Amino acid sequence: VERTLSIIKPDATKRNLTGKINAKFEDAGLRIVAQKRIQLTPAQAGKFYEVHAERPFYGELCDFMASEPVVVQVLEGEGAIAKNREVMGATNPADAAPGTIRAEFAESVGENSVHGSDAPETAAQEIAFFFSGLELV
Ligand code: ATP
Ligand code: MG
Repeated sequence: VERTLSIIKPDATKRNLTGKINAKFEDAGLRIVAQKRIQLTPAQAGKFYEVHAERPFYGELCDFMASEPVVVQVLEGEGAIAKNREVMGATNPADAAPGTIRAEFAESVGENSVHGSDAPETAAQEIAFFFSGLELV
């Protein structure tokens, strides 16, 4: 079975939406196999989002991700990467399909409630960024 890295972002943890978002994952058949609440430093957020370093919103994105605690989690299921992105909805909530997490909860294209890995290679990298082998069963 496939695994993917998910982050419940500061705009969502701040509004106490972790349970509602987790219900969307579980209803879609994704299993939460690891989960913890942490607060990133701007430098750690910068490292995680390094691929976006040249984008104009990079600084804003790193500050946002470090602004409040986040919930990092590993989701497991058949086709977990694609399924998670489907449940998340489009990056910009204005474009997100009805019923998706971003359509229901996101505040803007930047403060969009969740992150999900976009490919098997990035999923493996991103899971290893936050979780040790001991934390994963
Ligand atoms: P994520 O990687 O967080 O799962 P995504 O794959 O849908 O989201 P990316 O293009 O990888 O989107 O962008 C990473 C994150 O950067 C977005 O989720 C969002 O928080 C932020 N972002 C993307 N585009 C913009 C923008 N135009 N303005 C501000 N922030 C943005
Ligand atoms: Mg992305």
